[in-house]
Amino acid sequence: MRRDSIRDFKKLVSTSKTISIVTHWSPDGDAMGSSLALYHYLKIKGKQVHVIVPNSYPEFLKWLPGDKQVLNFQTQEKKVKTVLSKSDAIFTLDFNSFQRLEKLGEVLKTSPVKKVIIDHHQQPEDYASLYFHDVNACSTCELIFDFIESMGDKKLIDKKMAACIYTGMMTDTGSFRYPSVNARTHEIIAALLKTGIVPSEIHSAVYDTYSYNRMKLLGYALTNKMVVLEDKGVAYMSLTEKELQQFHYQKGDTEGLVNYPFSIKGITFCALFMESEGIIKISFRSKGKMDVNKFARAYFSGGGHINAAGGKSTVSLKATIDDFLRYISVS
Ligand code: 5GP
Ligand code: MN
Repeated sequence: MRRDSIRDFKKLVSTSKTISIVTHWSPDGDAMGSSLALYHYLKIKGKQVHVIVPNSYPEFLKWLPGDKQVLNFQTQEKKVKTVLSKSDAIFTLDFNSFQRLEKLGEVLKTSPVKKVIIDHHQQPEDYASLYFHDVNACSTCELIFDFIESMGDKKLIDKKMAACIYTGMMTDTGSFRYPSVNARTHEIIAALLKTGIVPSEIHSAVYDTYSYNRMKLLGYALTNKMVVLEDKGVAYMSLTEKELQQFHYQKGDTEGLVNYPFSIKGITFCALFMESEGIIKISFRSKGKMDVNKFARAYFSGGGHINAAGGKSTVSLKATIDDFLRYISVS
């Protein structure tokens, strides 16, 4: 945990005219929620603000207030580079390693602009001048709430900001059921609800958006692709590019899939392997003490949190799974 003096943040914000907000590759609810909440806050503070993503994000997040002005590095590279070079500060949200930005990471690495980290992932890198970092926070959105409150601006949190913050807290806690949830989580939620947001509407906007194909892909993965190693408490699924195409895969369609085997009694470690653009993208989840951040870092060039992490592999899907099986037998 490192929370630098709020006086330093106040100084940085008051001396910056233009601020960019950058979040991680394949942005999720917490990445977009935290970025857009901070966007609305800094706009109220009179700043010129840009939200930048390294690549696109799922349709079910595109209702978030402020979505229309998000810049995508993959499709607007030149514009993004100009915006970053003209920024007085760059807030990096929901990640702490340039690796998580893919190609955009190279741009940030060489940029002389002052950087801030607001994040809750393990082992932050040291590229920032200011940190608002806490691995015990349930989400980066929780930290955005704390940040605005620490700035003395809790009263500025309006319905738009609240919707963004609520979304990230909801998605990063599996709808308020992970061990990261505590009394503080619910106190923040209570404060957000007072702005007039309607939780059932946000839940529906995010979760009740499956296409028929996505539902069929879920059924297929659970029926045909789930492997359960009952004696080890491990379950995993894998999907080839061909299988994904068969179900007209859209970004976000496998979101949450990795968690399903936890509903089987005794399962404490789940993995999902997916073929994507020539590499294997892996999601790891655990219940209890098994540290998947360590596991992903040690074996699959990844990282994340103790109970939720990701990584990648450049060998074939089959070889990746064989590696995985070998590693779990020694972990
Ligand atoms: P997901 O499995 O949903 O992609 O990611 C789970 C968690 O692990 C997220 O908090 C995400 O930021 C982190 N994560 C996913 N992939 C990677 C990766 O390749 N490297 C690192 N350091 N973290 C990752
Ligand atoms: Mn997060």
